[in-house]
Amino acid sequence: MPNGRQANRQSGLRREWRFHASCRSVSPDVFFGPDGERYGPRIRREREAKRICSSCLVLADCRAYAEESREGFGIWGGASEHERRALIGAVG
Ligand code: SF4
Repeated sequence: MPNGRQANRQSGLRREWRFHASCRSVSPDVFFGPDGERYGPRIRREREAKRICSSCLVLADCRAYAEESREGFGIWGGASEHERRALIGAVG
């Protein structure tokens, strides 16, 4: 089991992919909708987020992180929270 310093270093390495994220300069509002968001705006927002994800170099790392950490909200790795739950449910 890693000690605290080793764990922090490993954790940092696991998050390194974030430096290459296509969404770094995009408003988080594109990836995370407000409470009570209506269907139409949500579909348009998610479509735009997925468009950005589709050319992201670290899509696979991002999606794996979101699935492993059970991210409950937002578009990660081109998948919505509903899609992640379906994928996790299909394998887990
Ligand atoms: S896959 Fe999408 S959410 Fe993940 S880092 Fe890339 S642009 Fe951001």
